[in-house]
Amino acid sequence: MLIVMENNASEKDIEIVVRKIEALGFTARPIPGSNRTAIGVVGNRGYVDDTQFLNLESVRQVIHVTRPYKLSSREFHPEDTVVHVGKAAIGGKSFTTIAGPCAVESEKQIFSIAGFLLEQGVPLLRGGAYKPRTSPYSFQGLEENGLKLLARVREETGLRIVTEAVDIVSIDTVAEYTDVIQIGARNMQNFPLLRKAGKSGKPVLLKRGISATLEELLLSAEYILNEGNGNVILCERGVRTFDNHSRNTLDLAAVPVLKEASHLPVIVDPSHASGNRKRIPPLSRAAVAVGADGIIVEVHPQPDEALSDGPQSMDFDGFKNMLQELKKIADSVERPVFSTNE
Ligand code: PEP
Ligand code: MN
Repeated sequence: MLIVMENNASEKDIEIVVRKIEALGFTARPIPGSNRTAIGVVGNRGYVDDTQFLNLESVRQVIHVTRPYKLSSREFHPEDTVVHVGKAAIGGKSFTTIAGPCAVESEKQIFSIAGFLLEQGVPLLRGGAYKPRTSPYSFQGLEENGLKLLARVREETGLRIVTEAVDIVSIDTVAEYTDVIQIGARNMQNFPLLRKAGKSGKPVLLKRGISATLEELLLSAEYILNEGNGNVILCERGVRTFDNHSRNTLDLAAVPVLKEASHLPVIVDPSHASGNRKRIPPLSRAAVAVGADGIIVEVHPQPDEALSDGPQSMDFDGFKNMLQELKKIADSVERPVFSTNE
């Protein structure tokens, strides 16, 4: 249930509603908007009688949220959420690019990529220090040493960092070093991990599970929001289907559907979706056109020597050319590509 206050409602009026909600044993979540405040009610399992709220003069309207997820629903929070990370605003007026290697491999590798991204005006560097690999024999990441390298890059370049937390044991360490915690597809329904990500206070990039429905994705986001962390970015990274022409099947329709159902920003990962660097430019162009708030792309100085996900990693020239093409489409849909150089 969402209680919409009158425009002129005072702090005291809001407090009265919050107390009433708490007296019923539920949790109140005030959501200030540009015109008026709404107060979300969470913790109720069924219909809540709204007359006691409608009788208050300061209450304009009561909306019963019909979706199983609440805090992540657009009904609850009609305005778009904008997640601010450094100078970038994901979900704002511009289109945000996040790029970097699948995994942090060495000082030389990560600083070379960082230097290139800085030149390109890309605001956020991705790179896994803890890698969830399908095979236990594959490179598992540099772990805390990888995080330390990312932190040095941040200090020396100003680039903001996105890196994955794979379990509840390492997430506190990840949160200490990173700007954005990534929760990977394999962990989308690791509920204790989602709760800890929510408690970390850091923005969370939540990737759609390999065969998760959009409702499941939004319920996972709900776990993070329910810990009082509103900075969640959703990511469509392809799902597994019957076909094998592509590593995964990029569900571009998820973007407008999620944007309609939720206020959270939505980005697209064309790298993990396609598994093939040749497909990244056309899928990225489509992501801009379909209304995504950004992309997260794997880039490596020598993709064929990458320790993970080489076939889907772009080289510097490929990424640079793609960015030029994206800018044209982004300008034509009035969603300019954000650049730290401008
Ligand atoms: C990644 O971003 O490197 C990754 C492992 O992605 P996903 O969880 O989408 O497979
Ligand atoms: Mn990868």
